[in-house]
This record gives sequence, structure tokens and C-alpha cells, in this order.
Amino acid sequence: MWFSAHFAVGMACGAAMAAPLIVFKPRWWPAVQPIAMTLGGIWACIPDAPRLWREDFTRLPLGSLLGTKDLENWLHSIGDVFFFHASMDAYRNAHGTEFALAGMAGMIALYSFAILVLMARAYLVPPHRAAQPPAAQPEQPPMKRAA
Ligand SMILES: [Zn+2]
Repeated sequence: MWFSAHFAVGMACGAAMAAPLIVFKPRWWPAVQPIAMTLGGIWACIPDAPRLWREDFTRLPLGSLLGTKDLENWLHSIGDVFFFHASMDAYRNAHGTEFALAGMAGMIALYSFAILVLMARAYLVPPHRAAQPPAAQPEQPPMKRAA
């Protein structure tokens, strides 16, 4: 199993899918990136989930339903929907390389990058200043006319 490589590729794809949101410049955009990365990583690993149910977590509920070899084979048959999962598996099977360490390094690099973006945002745009409305101008008394 090379969970980490699938997860890292999924993280990168999730971040790339969320990146266009920056066009609209929502205030919450930097927080979306790590969430999109995590969801993308989980999405990329879904085809291998039946094996987890079948071999590693056999006592989980719905194991007989979600841990079947048929489900695993079907998920792998449409595997490229899960961020190139099937192509990566095929490459691994053809070349015998695992990329597990590279995947782990990629995960750490991508999460570190997301944290740096959040830190840079917190440093450059303090939330208390960004949330305040512009200061109201004190009302001027009407000017007196010179007589
Ligand atoms: Zn797989």
C-alpha cells in the first residue's frame, strides 16, 4: 500500500481545485486550502478503503458491505476519478516502485506550505483590523457665515 503517495497527489489536486477561489478574494480563502488538501487526499485514497475494512479494521461496522473485493475492484476500474489513483497503481505495478517516502515528504511539504500561507496572512492582515468597519468621521458643526 502506498497510501502516502495517493494522499499527496490528492492534496495537490484538492489545493489546485480550490485555488481559483482566490479570484473572489473571500476572507476565509487561506483556511480553505488545508481543508481542500485534506479532502483531496482522502478522496484519492477511497479506492483502497475496502481493503482497510477487509484486512485492517475488520471489526468496523458495515465491514461486510464496504470491505468486499468486488467494491475494491470496481473502485479501481474507475480509479482515475480519484485523482489518478488507477494510473498510479498501474505505474507502481509496472515498475515496482512504491514512492511511499516521496508521498510522505509531499504531504509534509504541502501541509507546511498551507500553514505558511495561513501564518503570512495572519501576519499581513491582522483579523481585528480587517474586520473593523472604516472609522466614522465625526460630524462637523455647520460653518457659520461671516456676517
Ligand atoms: Zn489502489
